Amino acid sequence: MSGNTKFKSISIDGPAASGKSAVGKILSLELKYNFLDTGIMYRAVTYISLLKKITPELASTFFEKRKMKLTTENSKNSLFYENKDITTLLYSKNIDSKVSEVSKKSIVRNNLVDFQRNLAIEGNIVMVGRDISTVVLPNSNLKIFLRAGLDIRAIRRAKEISSIDINIIKKSILIRDQIDSTRKLSPLKIAKESFVIDTDELDLVGVVSEIKKLYEKIND
Ligand code: C5P
Repeated sequence: MSGNTKFKSISIDGPAASGKSAVGKILSLELKYNFLDTGIMYRAVTYISLLKKITPELASTFFEKRKMKLTTENSKNSLFYENKDITTLLYSKNIDSKVSEVSKKSIVRNNLVDFQRNLAIEGNIVMVGRDISTVVLPNSNLKIFLRAGLDIRAIRRAKEISSIDINIIKKSILIRDQIDSTRKLSPLKIAKESFVIDTDELDLVGVVSEIKKLYEKIND
């Protein structure tokens, strides 16, 4: 059981562009679970703190104050700031280059993790990020860690942002991975109970089916 909730949760962690979001979304649709891609929240805090010239700590309180809202209908995660949908603005190179520094901050993490845990109390959920299996939902029913080589991840990310500059993308992914996995608080790491899936040779459907097989075994 996830924490003290009666609902089930599947946690998926992995480095940048390892396919977590796409896999988590399809999996949640197939299982009819809610879906939360926690990265969108760290991106939103980064974006709003830059836009409004305020501290990330202050921006991270905006979820509780309802200035920022996250919707998850049909597994589509959308982020609203003062009722304006800012989702597409959160995946720029500029945000990519700044988000990992923001994500190191303890107040930011605490505020966002509270929100993430509360969502897991409301119903069955697939949650993806960097610290879901280790920190956010340490008692999740199934823990997955997705791995993929740098080349594959850079190609995936290039498609997402319609960019052809693979070398710049590789550099940005490496920097983010380095900061995310070496920070003091909630670093990206493989939880003891996690199943590691290498996605180099698998397409989305293949990865989802691996996870479903593991899930069925656990539910037997
Ligand atoms: O997954 P995504 O690439 O959208 O995440 C953006 C950034 O947010 C990560 O590079 C990381 O710094 C931060 N993050 C985090 N913890 C999570 C999810 C994302 O620190 N659970």
